[in-house]
Amino acid sequence: KQSCGREIGSRILVFVRLRPMGKKEREAGSRCCVRIVNQRDVYLTEFASENDYLRLKRLRGRHFTFDASFPDSTTQQEVYLTTTAELVEAVLQGRNGSVFCYGATGAGKTYTMLGTVENPGVMVLAIKDLFTKIRQRSCDGNHVVHLSYLEVYNETVRDLLSPGRPLVLREDKQGIVAANLTQYRAYSTDEVMALLQQGNQNRTTEPTRANETSSRSHAILQVMVEYRVKDASNNVVNRVGKLSLIDLAGSERALATDQRTLRSLEGANINKSLLALSSCINALVEGKKHIPYRNSKLTQLLKDSLGGVCNTVMMANISPSNLCFGETQNTLHWADRAKEI
Ligand code: ADP
Ligand code: MG
Repeated sequence: KQSCGREIGSRILVFVRLRPMGKKEREAGSRCCVRIVNQRDVYLTEFASENDYLRLKRLRGRHFTFDASFPDSTTQQEVYLTTTAELVEAVLQGRNGSVFCYGATGAGKTYTMLGTVENPGVMVLAIKDLFTKIRQRSCDGNHVVHLSYLEVYNETVRDLLSPGRPLVLREDKQGIVAANLTQYRAYSTDEVMALLQQGNQNRTTEPTRANETSSRSHAILQVMVEYRVKDASNNVVNRVGKLSLIDLAGSERALATDQRTLRSLEGANINKSLLALSSCINALVEGKKHIPYRNSKLTQLLKDSLGGVCNTVMMANISPSNLCFGETQNTLHWADRAKEI
């Protein structure tokens, strides 16, 4: 049913973003193990101990290449323009799209998606751009923008704009919808940053670290753009596009902690959602008839946003520190696979 600018079945676009070295990492004496060249090539170096010469030699100079790779000096605006601006244009044409941030906890997913008040991220820049584009076309119809912001945590869906009881997913004619989910009608960009920051505050936190968002929480911002115009014979034409911007849970393995039993259950569910996401994308690109959306809450919610594979963007976030080498390597391998499918 969906059409798209790029060829149907063409692979998804995969980007990598390197964040700057953090203060704590620098103080811990970490070295930079990632180098980005030509906005595209990523070189990963493992620093082995001096007497481990063979290992050093074997692991040196791993090379990956992506549709674009962003060095740590890249601005939020540059990231937005390269990865998402095209999808915003497509949504205005009534086509769905989705942008995912994948990576270990602390790698920069939330910074990329939400950002800060001084440096707003993709979510805010996309909405800003959307309103600019709508203003430019206001002569040819009426656009209505609605926002929903929700969380999947431990296979439970919650409304981040109106916290309360878990939401129930229902299947209706339009597809799978979260019953009673807030649809916030947005009129301008100014109100949106505060709204999203507040929503982010509502994300589930670790019981032990109440100020930090749980690394097991997936956050999904859905931007619905409805376009109403009268055609030549005075019939009202309705067109709806939906852009989903997703700050995925941390991709690292569950840490062994004192609350191990609980965490491993939660960890299993996170893996379930990430795994389900990978299998859906795989099946879509391979042109399979059956797409296993039902396997997780995340993929059920994204059913109508993954359908047009050509409008899917993956962003892998990585840290430059050699202390995160293993996680960075896993993230780059995953991104490299996503590129192939
Ligand atoms: P994640 O959501 O993947 O766990 P965060 O987005 O919270 O990671 O990033 C971890 C820390 O690094 C935060 O303090 C954030 O402000 C900072 N950070 C991440 N990416 C960047 C960047 N590109 N530029 C500056 N600071 C960043
Ligand atoms: Mg985060």
